[in-house]
Amino acid sequence: MSLFTAVEMAPRDPILGLNEQFNADTNPNKVNLGVGVYYDDNGKLPLLACVQAAEKLMMESPKARGYLPIDGIAAYDAAVKSLVFGADSEPVKSGRVATAQGIGGTGGLKIGADFLKKLLPTAKVLISDPSWENHRALFTQAGFVVETHPYYDAAKRGVNFEGMLAALNAAEAGTIVVLHACCHNPTGYDITAAQWDEVIAVVKARKLTPFLDMAYQGFGHGIKEDGAVVGKFVAAGLCFFVSTSFSKSFSLYGERVGALSVLCENKEEADRVLSNLKLVIRANYSNPQIHGGTVVATVLNTPALRAQWEQELTEMRVRIKAMRQKLVDGLKAAGVKQDMSFITTQIGMFSYSGLNKDQMVRLRSEFGIYGTDTGRMCVAALNSKNIDYVCASIAKVI
Ligand code: PMP
Repeated sequence: MSLFTAVEMAPRDPILGLNEQFNADTNPNKVNLGVGVYYDDNGKLPLLACVQAAEKLMMESPKARGYLPIDGIAAYDAAVKSLVFGADSEPVKSGRVATAQGIGGTGGLKIGADFLKKLLPTAKVLISDPSWENHRALFTQAGFVVETHPYYDAAKRGVNFEGMLAALNAAEAGTIVVLHACCHNPTGYDITAAQWDEVIAVVKARKLTPFLDMAYQGFGHGIKEDGAVVGKFVAAGLCFFVSTSFSKSFSLYGERVGALSVLCENKEEADRVLSNLKLVIRANYSNPQIHGGTVVATVLNTPALRAQWEQELTEMRVRIKAMRQKLVDGLKAAGVKQDMSFITTQIGMFSYSGLNKDQMVRLRSEFGIYGTDTGRMCVAALNSKNIDYVCASIAKVI
């Protein structure tokens, strides 16, 4: 009898479990469309030139590694604010945004969740159905009851917007609503600008607490375009949370670079909020790491590197879009009769392909093509070498 005798084996993370299965697969044609990672046309994880340039600069004047302040690198936090709200925006100029560096986008969400639990201890959390699975786990772990609002409409191949709006309308005041700012994960379906206006009107009228998860800024339509949603919330006069991730947009997955920003009513309030975010961070992991934050701050704050980053981000975005089109064309050429053009109306890294569990299992076992049972595929892992094989294989299971 040990302390751990009664500890049960926890379920495997479904996506990481898929990875293990993929790694063990001996099929030479295997393709991993399971994970949310961008690969280049050679199937390689990119190391961006702007990141390498920033690291070279950093190595030219090496610095000792003392502890960072609890809220991270000041130049990094300032760069995040400018990116999320706009450098010349009123919130940035008036100093009413509280921003803290986080351990990836997940860390940003976690800091926000823990702070919200102190602020609104009895509030519920609403996430989309479906959502990034960690949303539920993370807010549950922070002590919240997490419920879903309708989002994906399989029959319509789009968003059940009426259902979503009705659920928001029925939510109690204070309810925390986690919204994907762009590139909805897992479906790939975003709501339109006009629909955002309706969501914002309900959020305002019902006094809900908006939490924007911005894990893919720049992967949808562009940095500014994807950030426009934030501007809409600002224009509506709302106070809200935004988590940022640079995992994808800088291809810095393992450096864990992200942030939490909280828009407050004025600077004095932002100072008070930041002091409380620091309490949360201190008790969780004390302070963030130096390397990734320095890379991102160097790139964002050095005009030539910033331009290079925007160029590289554009290349990633354009390549994903091209793969969507190739997938649609390739499926048609491979004999798929049903209209698959919805794939090009989706945005970001993922596609809800409409394939069911049986079809996804067959794709794995017979063809070595790995996506989730829900039919989610990472289009950012398609390339000119694997696309024909993927299309031909899908055509055989559909
Ligand atoms: N939110 C969403 C919607 C995501 O897809 C992800 C990454 N898969 C994150 C947050 C977390 O980002 P990070 O890896 O930077 O923690």
